[in-house]
Amino acid sequence: MKPVVAIVGRPNVGKSTLFNRIIQKRLAIEESESGITRDRLYADSEWLGRPFMIVDTGGIDLDDQDVMTPHIRRQAELAVAEAAVILFVVDGRTGLTSADEDVAAILRRSEKPVILVVNKTDNLDQEKNMFDFYRLGFPETIAVSAVHGLGIGDLLDRMVDLFEEEKADEVSDDEIMRVAFIGRPNVGKSSLINYLLGEERLIVSDIPGTTRDSIDTRIRHDDQELILIDTAGMRRRSRVEKPVERYSVMRALKSVDQADVVLLVLDATQSIAEQDQRIAGYAHDAGKAMIIVMNKWDLVEKDGKTMDRFRRRVREELSFVDYAPILFISAKTGQRVTQILDTIQQVTHQYFLRLSTAVINEVLREAVSINPPSAYKGRRLKIYYGTQTGVRPPTFVFFVNDPDLMHFSYKRFLENKIRESFGFEGTPLKILLRKRESQS
Ligand code: GDP
Ligand code: GDP
Repeated sequence: MKPVVAIVGRPNVGKSTLFNRIIQKRLAIEESESGITRDRLYADSEWLGRPFMIVDTGGIDLDDQDVMTPHIRRQAELAVAEAAVILFVVDGRTGLTSADEDVAAILRRSEKPVILVVNKTDNLDQEKNMFDFYRLGFPETIAVSAVHGLGIGDLLDRMVDLFEEEKADEVSDDEIMRVAFIGRPNVGKSSLINYLLGEERLIVSDIPGTTRDSIDTRIRHDDQELILIDTAGMRRRSRVEKPVERYSVMRALKSVDQADVVLLVLDATQSIAEQDQRIAGYAHDAGKAMIIVMNKWDLVEKDGKTMDRFRRRVREELSFVDYAPILFISAKTGQRVTQILDTIQQVTHQYFLRLSTAVINEVLREAVSINPPSAYKGRRLKIYYGTQTGVRPPTFVFFVNDPDLMHFSYKRFLENKIRESFGFEGTPLKILLRKRESQS
């Protein structure tokens, strides 16, 4: 679930301007298409790799003369009820008004985290007005200018911090890993699932899947619960009555979307197909963990070097998922099939791994000192510091003097250095760059 951020405040303080500013380009299109101005406006957005949904409530208007007031007010209440964080916008030029105080009273009752946004702070000497607003008693207060785009980054930083605090409070179902078996027809997905479930007697329950007429299977292995996505169909299907399967790439991609870990099943007797590469690329871009399963290993004639040769081939043809562990198994003989569940457990751990800012910066400093970034057009990339902003997959933000100076090969180098130190086997890493004028 994406957290919802609600923008509230009395009319004319600049809520819709701020909304536009936060979601930037996208809205220009939405606005001209929908023409909705005074209803709730929703948009998806992202900051530092954290997706969220932002809602412009259109205003808590306490003036009864406005015909639309009850409606707008209701909308605002709804948005507040749904919100993870509320941005309470006030006008820094006019200063505190009684309408602001009324809105503040409503928000205080909601007991949601509120950031008081003092808008129209177009230049610094206006900041003196801030003191009035501190009286409202919201601990998070920040001055911005929605029109000029000032302070927006800092505002979003704080907002994202509040998501993290909220999330830390809730213990969720969500730690359960969702596993998708993906692969072309006849590579052995059904056989694998049947073997696993038959051997281990680990089924907890069948549950409706997220796509139409799909059924997921909930299982337990050691202390970990897993959901195998869209599996019941594969389980049920007997060899005899199995219809000729038309490989649905759409269905595969949907399963990838729902998964945390993708098990890319390959047939060791076949070459790697473009479709396999596309699915792997899609899973990588979507930030999913991955395990590569080389099935039908029983059919391969082996000498001492066969496994290495296969491993090299996979690394060459699926080079962008070089972090994925490769398992060599046979669903027919059962050889090493149970490794799948252990590997999922290890990868899960990596997927949720969180590093402290101190250790990240130690690695960054060392990496930069052994291999400093080279100059580009007379300018040199400076990395001020890095921090991890999320897991699932592990997501990092590096604050730099200019993101354009980061060559992709240098980013790759830094990623490899992080992997050398901490592993992260099986999971992609997301590295985002943010411009910082100077070190602060
Ligand atoms: P809403 O009714 O709260 O959604 O407010 P709007 O976003 O429609 O803005 C109301 C007015 O304030 C418009 O004329 C905006 O151009 C203006 N405004 C919004 N943000 C700023 C700002 O940061 N500085 C200045 N000077 N004006 C702003
Ligand atoms: P799916 O279409 O990916 O679900 O593939 P199936 O599980 O239906 O398997 C396709 C065919 O490959 C069946 O005839 C299986 O018996 C066979 N098969 C699956 N795994 C193995 C294996 O590890 N070794 C051998 N020799 N045959 C396998």
